[in-house]
Amino acid sequence: LIDARDLTKTFTTADGKLPVLNGISLQLQPGETLALTGESGSGKSTLLHLLAALDTPDSGTIRHQDDDITSGNDTSRAAVRRNRIGLVFQQFNLIPSLDIAANLAFQARLAGRYDADWCAVLSQRLGLSELLSRYPEQLSGGQQQRVAIGRALAPRPPVLLADEPTGNLDEATADSVLEMMLELVDETGAGLLMVTHSTRLAGRLSRRLHLSQGRVA
Ligand code: ATP
Ligand code: MG
Repeated sequence: LIDARDLTKTFTTADGKLPVLNGISLQLQPGETLALTGESGSGKSTLLHLLAALDTPDSGTIRHQDDDITSGNDTSRAAVRRNRIGLVFQQFNLIPSLDIAANLAFQARLAGRYDADWCAVLSQRLGLSELLSRYPEQLSGGQQQRVAIGRALAPRPPVLLADEPTGNLDEATADSVLEMMLELVDETGAGLLMVTHSTRLAGRLSRRLHLSQGRVA
């Protein structure tokens, strides 16, 4: 699904150059669940943004299936984002002016793949059926996180990228949200790359990559 080779990324700040990624290669296969761990500031979110075509590396290549998103233009990157990737942000990023039903359907509608039955299944499985007419501000953190996961899965993306999707939840809630996410990913056959600080949760996935000093250990 994803084949990334020799990625480098250096940020330029007021204090000078900050090399963050220093030759990262990784592959994600269909049905595979990868945990991405590493200290705060090690570059996990930066790497996820590159893989999600939200940012570009300084060098290296990223292929999504057969498309090289590093040599493509902005339009082809946007198409990869829309058609291939489900993204779960740490801060949820729900749309405050839309109710939960519309938030859940948002990405699928954007991709032209809205399926009312699948959205109903997702909301039921994620325990959101009773909350569909509410607005994001009326939900708890864990409920909002489940909406964010449902929204990312609604278009049935082949790849789900999740940045600490359970980072703001207590242990029991984090476990149950991860369990739901793994079941749904398994059912859709998607590949999952999940950033997590928890070695306990990382242990539930099929493989673990540890980022340290800009490299994968
Ligand atoms: P955390 O676990 O705290 O979320 P992370 O591993 O996700 O950390 P990143 O957000 O990828 O870390 O940041 C890696 C490094 O790059 C940090 O030192 C950060 O300050 C720096 N950085 C990130 N984005 C930028 C930017 N746009 N401009 C300059 N520096 C940046
Ligand atoms: Mg981060």
